[in-house]
Amino acid sequence: MRYVTFEHEGRLRPGYLDGDRVGSIACSTLLEYITLPADAREKKRLNDFQPLSSVTLAAPVRPNKNIFCVGRNYLDHALEVSQQSGRELKLPDVPTFFTKAPTAIASPGETLEFSSKVSREYDWEAELAVVIGSRVKDVSEAAALDAVFGYTCFNDLTARDLQRAHVQWFKGKSLDSAAPMGPWIVSPDEIGNAQELAIALRVNGVEKQRSTTANMIFSLPVLIASLSKGMTLEPGDVIATGTPEGVGFARKPPEFLRDGDDVEVEIEKIGVLRNRIRII
Ligand code: MG
Repeated sequence: MRYVTFEHEGRLRPGYLDGDRVGSIACSTLLEYITLPADAREKKRLNDFQPLSSVTLAAPVRPNKNIFCVGRNYLDHALEVSQQSGRELKLPDVPTFFTKAPTAIASPGETLEFSSKVSREYDWEAELAVVIGSRVKDVSEAAALDAVFGYTCFNDLTARDLQRAHVQWFKGKSLDSAAPMGPWIVSPDEIGNAQELAIALRVNGVEKQRSTTANMIFSLPVLIASLSKGMTLEPGDVIATGTPEGVGFARKPPEFLRDGDDVEVEIEKIGVLRNRIRII
């Protein structure tokens, strides 16, 4: 199943895809639907289909809290960061977690507006995002994937100069529009093994990142189990699971996003998250 949030008659509605049609869900938000017990969800899906091409999609889910993120979770990305910064590569024993403000969430297809007065170094990071489907704490690695509602594409847009200046990554990662996700959430049964998905990012059609989720340092079950240790994860929580090599600031010479750029995150079995960059 593919889940969306779409604009209909001036308001946002949750829905699901049936081929190239969208059916609506009788809940106020997709977050409310995800929070329902799994066996109560089916009767909420209505058969009031309309063409997907006739609706505008929004970010599929908006958690009420920060988005969880993982730093340096692909070896080649950790290497490029250490080379660029001149620091020795030392891999952590546990995942590096940080968060992005929920106000940063943006929609698929949305033009993302940034200010040149705030940052000169807007950068991209293609990531697989996990959406949690049930309330869990201290979940084991063996049971971790049972807590997943689905997967979506995520761009962990980062203002590199702010990330450096403020030391803690939160500020440079949390600017408005710096967390586009979508276009939909795909349920685990459609994904199969989420640890073997091709992931790529293109700027104006030129490939900048290409890898596979098989290259994660900490696998999805390890990430979820580790994050949930002593800390409750709730339905609708989003975990962005790290980016592979090929980010802008580590390229030689460094590259940053410019006004008018088109950025695409593509993940196998999910689809393409497209956004245009507007820098004013
Ligand atoms: Mg990231």
